[in-house]
Amino acid sequence: MTITSTAQQATDLGYLLHKNPANLHTLELPFGKAHVFYSCATSERTTACLVVDVNPVELVRGARQLEDYVNDRPYAASSYLTVALGRVFGTALAGNCAKRPELVGTRLPLEITVEVVRSRGGPDVLKRLFEPLGYVVAATGLTLDEQFPDWGESPYCRLQLRASVTVHDALSHLYVLLPVLDGQKHYYIAGAEVDKLMRHGEGWLQGHPERRLIVQRYLKRRASLVDEAFARLQDDGVEDDSGEQPAAVERELERPMTLHTQRISLVAARLRELGAASVVDLGCGEGRLLRRLLADRGFVRIVGMDVSHRALEVASSRLRLNRMAERERKRILLIQGSLLYRDRRLSGFDGAALVEVIEHLDPPRLAAMERVVFDFARPRHVVVTTPNREYNVLFAGLAEGRLRHPDHRFEWTRAEFAAWARAVAGRFGYQVSFEDVGPADEQHGAPSRMAVFSLSSGGAA
Ligand code: SAH
Repeated sequence: MTITSTAQQATDLGYLLHKNPANLHTLELPFGKAHVFYSCATSERTTACLVVDVNPVELVRGARQLEDYVNDRPYAASSYLTVALGRVFGTALAGNCAKRPELVGTRLPLEITVEVVRSRGGPDVLKRLFEPLGYVVAATGLTLDEQFPDWGESPYCRLQLRASVTVHDALSHLYVLLPVLDGQKHYYIAGAEVDKLMRHGEGWLQGHPERRLIVQRYLKRRASLVDEAFARLQDDGVEDDSGEQPAAVERELERPMTLHTQRISLVAARLRELGAASVVDLGCGEGRLLRRLLADRGFVRIVGMDVSHRALEVASSRLRLNRMAERERKRILLIQGSLLYRDRRLSGFDGAALVEVIEHLDPPRLAAMERVVFDFARPRHVVVTTPNREYNVLFAGLAEGRLRHPDHRFEWTRAEFAAWARAVAGRFGYQVSFEDVGPADEQHGAPSRMAVFSLSSGGAA
């Protein structure tokens, strides 16, 4: 691979890459050697060359099948090149340049050539990956064997990229996209790969039209990691295109008010005031309330329950459960379960929350949920929120008579919600009070309503 700068003072490339143009630099890697040298270094044009000399003997240690011996790894750009990039140009990739820090953010006219690359999905994929990042892309097909031209074209090509871009960005793009082109990423794909993808994709991956392809291939389609990556990208404000349009639609509707944030804050505040030290979040979804509860040490035991395994995976990744300090980790537990079935694990809590959950249940099932929560689990306090249907007319973009979310089985008026809640409270020995969630309109009320149930004295389990 070569990187050429044609900027004025083109030799500055040496500072940025942290490699002196006057020297040959060699680094030992587990699978061979990486060499960096400059094929030219003048103030008009400076070219740094990275040669990765993959040692085929190293590769076949632990080989089990023929492909382990006979493959293109030593001859074509692959994930080995990526590893080499990370090691050899680690300083540049991290965005550091001690000697000339002002250069880091400077765009330079760069030309990058990867001599032999195999693009899964053909040359078209190269354009789809690099053009949105501002590169002019040229891919020249390579014949299979120059001595035997009638053998035809190989699946390999020479990739040339030209752009005005910072060295840091260019290296980040290559670091992420080379493994995306390579079908056989050699290293073990673990959770840390998501971190790498996020770190090196920062600032450009979110907005990339092919981000789905990039994320999926980078993580070798490992579903849980792909979900985690999408969740984290979405965290950073990208609309979710992982098949979860409905949620995005609802978020979009409510966004101007960040209603959900207000809802979560209000629920957490009420639970706190009620002195609930242990809380179970029923239908916790992707863990927004859990995150809020965790941030307050007054909540010593927190359990999130949801029927959706995927939601729990996303919650786990957003809360970074696998990286949490032991002491913190002990405060929280995620469990899969259904609100429609009696479940011992739900007993013994001071408080329970059902934030925007009941409207996802079929009305004939509500009675089952009521018994599970108010009769069997029987926490001292239960906080329930649900949309106020009256408010829907004020949502620009919501057609008349439509519900906010395709999965909502119903949306109640304030009176309907109050009637339901009072009946439940009466039946199971709770008192109930109501509050608005979000800014209230004089006529239509607030976007959501909250009911706070507390066991009546003498009504304890
Ligand atoms: N409380 C979360 C999620 C609300 S979306 C929040 O405010 O962000 C509704 C959630 O209820 C979804 O995650 C869905 O999987 C869950 N859910 C739906 N039916 C359920 C059931 N029968 N038991 C448990 N959870 C259920």
